[in-house]
Amino acid sequence: MRRLIVVSNRVGPLKDGGKAGGLAVGLGDALRSRGGIWFGWSGEKSAKGTFGEMKVEDHGKVRLATIDLTPEDVEEFYAGYANRTLWPLLHYRLDLAEFDQRFENAYRRVNERMAARLMPQLKPDDMVWVHDYHYILLGERLRESGFSGPMAYFLHVPFPSPEIMTALPNSNSIIRALTAYNVIGFQTDTDRRNFARYVVEELGGSEGENDELFAYGRSFRASTFPIGIDTESFADFAVSDEAKEHEAQLKVLLRDRQQIIGVDRLDYSKGIPERFRGFERLLEDYPENRGRVSLMQVAPLSRSDLEAYSELRSELEELAGHINGAYSALDWVPIRIMTRGFTRRALAGIYRASRVGLVTPLRDGMNLVAKEYVAAQDPDDPGVLVLSRFAGAVKELPEALIVNPYDTAALARALQQALNMPLEERKRRWQAMFERLKTQTAQTWCHDILSALEERADKGPARSTVPTASGRPPNALTPKRPKEPVVAKVPGTPPAQPQRPAERRGALSSLRSLFL
Ligand code: ADP
Repeated sequence: MRRLIVVSNRVGPLKDGGKAGGLAVGLGDALRSRGGIWFGWSGEKSAKGTFGEMKVEDHGKVRLATIDLTPEDVEEFYAGYANRTLWPLLHYRLDLAEFDQRFENAYRRVNERMAARLMPQLKPDDMVWVHDYHYILLGERLRESGFSGPMAYFLHVPFPSPEIMTALPNSNSIIRALTAYNVIGFQTDTDRRNFARYVVEELGGSEGENDELFAYGRSFRASTFPIGIDTESFADFAVSDEAKEHEAQLKVLLRDRQQIIGVDRLDYSKGIPERFRGFERLLEDYPENRGRVSLMQVAPLSRSDLEAYSELRSELEELAGHINGAYSALDWVPIRIMTRGFTRRALAGIYRASRVGLVTPLRDGMNLVAKEYVAAQDPDDPGVLVLSRFAGAVKELPEALIVNPYDTAALARALQQALNMPLEERKRRWQAMFERLKTQTAQTWCHDILSALEERADKGPARSTVPTASGRPPNALTPKRPKEPVVAKVPGTPPAQPQRPAERRGALSSLRSLFL
């Protein structure tokens, strides 16, 4: 079995199912069974001007390897390009995206340095799996340094349509780097289709059968692999002593009232103001809920040094203040906001004590909170999930009440329906979702991606050459368009696949995010 090399913004934790999310558990399992390295940023700043040395921590067959970034890197790469350029852009928020050449330079610099630090650790038959928008370029840098083993990339966030993506300066050279990977995974079919459109319309590539794409003389697979949670463990957490303690505490506080729960990092993609407005509308349009239903919003602060995030915090405090001012009673407050963190067991208990799970992102790659809420419910008296149509999770959870978070009146109606849903209907909807979540977990997600990568590896690497400075491999076809394309598609003819026989011949011998 090949060793697995995982690259993501942050690494681990490898152990402690009580703290690690499903993703860390899934990746940890895969790393433990194969042996390998999990490589990423330490979260620390190194002394000014120097890129840190690799720090390693060995846990049996698994090495956690981290690097300190320089203060400039943290500012320009992490807070800059990753969080102020790519994050808003990938979440369809062109209005918030900042395009600054310094940020792009830092992104290129850090991807290059991380690849250079990783390269000496790699063995020719390793498989590499790169995660998320922080390291789009890393695979291409490894190829240029001579690594020819199998490489996968998974994008945890959405991939917007080319109409949005092309607003990114130098978008072609950024997105082109993805073609260095053999398997590229997306959360939903929409994301995968948007990427395929980009490859065809902007990079001049073409589509083949079975999710195969061709561009720059390379063939690669772009498929949908929706990420899951560790469903059964999360269900077990919900009946742990710690969960029960939190559930009991809340029940005492709530007495016979109902609670709606929202749990999100404080991020503008999560639709929290829209959620508050929907709740306010519920109190307005269905006054019987006044004094009877409250909204608890758990919202740990994230990226709070960025303006968009501090503005969001002020907006939420103002909105909650306004709603609480208008509707509070002596013994009831409509909205409670908490920014603290909870253990996973405590969170499971909080979900279970809440009749409604309210998940209203304006755009979200997947949204694991929606899945955790379902997993934590009492099978004999499950709550109702109200879920935004813009969350990737909606594809696997169609039995939720699906809402458009921009439609405040519809959101209020869905809440009213959820709060009054008969037990039998709640059970029926919950059962269907829970059964699905049990079969599509973080572990099956890992397994599916790694199997897809093994399969590609057995076929031979994606290509036998690296792109030249012109953006084309030396043996690629002459582009038929003036942009950067290589494999032109002629309407009505099957996609051109010029590199494949050569790849098969030439390369069989040389085989091989937390995140945010
Ligand atoms: P994102 O990855 O964009 O933050 P997700 O919904 O996919 O959104 O994942 C968020 C994760 O963070 C979930 O696993 C959730 O349980 C966890 N989380 C959110 N808020 C808290 C909190 N206050 N304490 C502990 N875990 C939290």
